[in-house]
Amino acid sequence: MKPKIWLSSPHMSGAEQTYIKEAFDTNWVAPLGPNVNGFENDLQSYLNEDRYVAALASGTSALHLSLILLGVTYGDEVICQSKTFSASANPIVYQGATPVFVDSESDTWNMCPIQLEIAIKDRIAKSKKPKAIIPVHLYGMPYKVDEIHKIAETYNIPIVEDSAESLGSLYNGQNCGTFGNLSILSFNGNKIITTSGGGALVTRTKAHKDKAVFLATQARDDAPHYQHSHIGYNYRMSNIVAGIGRGQMTILDSHVAKRRSNHEFYKNELSHINKITFLNEPKGHFSNRWLTAILLDSIETREGLRLALEEENIESRPLWKPMHQQPIFKDAPSYLNGVSDELFDRGLCLPSGSNLTNEQLDRVISAINTYFAIC
Ligand SMILES: *Cc1c(COP(=O)(O)O)cnc(C)c1O
Repeated sequence: MKPKIWLSSPHMSGAEQTYIKEAFDTNWVAPLGPNVNGFENDLQSYLNEDRYVAALASGTSALHLSLILLGVTYGDEVICQSKTFSASANPIVYQGATPVFVDSESDTWNMCPIQLEIAIKDRIAKSKKPKAIIPVHLYGMPYKVDEIHKIAETYNIPIVEDSAESLGSLYNGQNCGTFGNLSILSFNGNKIITTSGGGALVTRTKAHKDKAVFLATQARDDAPHYQHSHIGYNYRMSNIVAGIGRGQMTILDSHVAKRRSNHEFYKNELSHINKITFLNEPKGHFSNRWLTAILLDSIETREGLRLALEEENIESRPLWKPMHQQPIFKDAPSYLNGVSDELFDRGLCLPSGSNLTNEQLDRVISAINTYFAIC
C-alpha cells in the first residue's frame, strides 16, 4: 500500500514547542495565561480592523456564544447557510431555536442573496422575524459580503459570520472574520492553522468580548466565593493550546500561499480534462483555498473518481452535504434553488494541505489521469 495522502493535515512551524515549553516552565497550565493573551493579540493584529478576539475551546463554542450574545433563545428562528458543516447550525438548536436553511448561489457556493431575502420576507409574513443570519465562507471562498450584509441591514438582522474555513481570505481587501456583527474562527486539526482543537470569537466591542470571556469561564460573579447569576460554560482556550496557536500565526501567510499554489497546480495540470471544472474567484474575492474542490460532470463520475483515489490511498471527500438533506434537520424550514444539491452530487475536495510535497501532488494528478483514461 502506498503511503496515505490526506485531505488536509496539521502543519507545524517548529515555533509551537517554544511557546508550549514556556507555559510549562512558568506553570501556566490552565485556561488562561500569557499564550492566551498573546494569541489573541496576534489574531487581532492579523485581522487588522480594530476587532477584539476571545480565544475559545472551538469554533462551535464561539458560534454558541455568538447566539447567546445576540439574545437568541427558545422559540426563535435563525437563518443559516444550508451548504456547510453541521457545526454552523447545531448551536442554534443548543439555544432551543429553529434553524431556517438558505441555499447557495453558484459564483461562490455560499448563501444566495435572492433566497435569503425570500426567506426573510416569508418568515416575517409568518410572524417569525429571524434573530440572526449565519453565512459561511466555504472552503475559504468569501461569500457575497456586500449583497448579504445589505439585506441584513435592510431588515435589521445581525450577522454571525462563520469564518471557520477562511482565515487569510479577503473580500475587497478586508480580512474574512471581520465582517459580521460577530465572527468566528476555528483552529481544528484540519483547518488552515490548527491548535489541535480551538476557536475564537471576533467582536466589534470590548463589552462583547468581556461578556463572552465571562460566559466562557463559568460566569463567575465578582465575589471571593463562587457566586453565579448566569448559566456559564467551560469554553475558554487553554494556555498550552494557545501556545500552538502563537507558533502557527508565524506561518499563516505562507500556508495561504501554499494552499493557493496547490489550487493553481491542480487547475493547470487538469485543464485538459473537460469533465472537471474549478470555482474561480469573482472580482474582489481572495480565497485562502483552504480546500481545492472540483466539480465533475455527474455524481457517477464523482463517485468513480473518489473510489479510484481511495484505491491509491489518496483521501478525497464530497462537498458538504447540505443541512436541509441531513436527517436531523429534515423538518427545518428551507429556501432552496437546487444549487447546493447539485454541488453535493458533483463536487469533490482534493488533498489540499500546506505540507503536500510535489511528489504527493504528482501522485494525485496521475491517479486522476489514469481514472479518466479508463472511464
Ligand atoms: C470547522 C468548522 C466549524 C467548527 O469549528 P470547530 O472548531 O471544529 O468547532 C464551524 N463551521 C465551519 C464551516 C467549519 O468548517
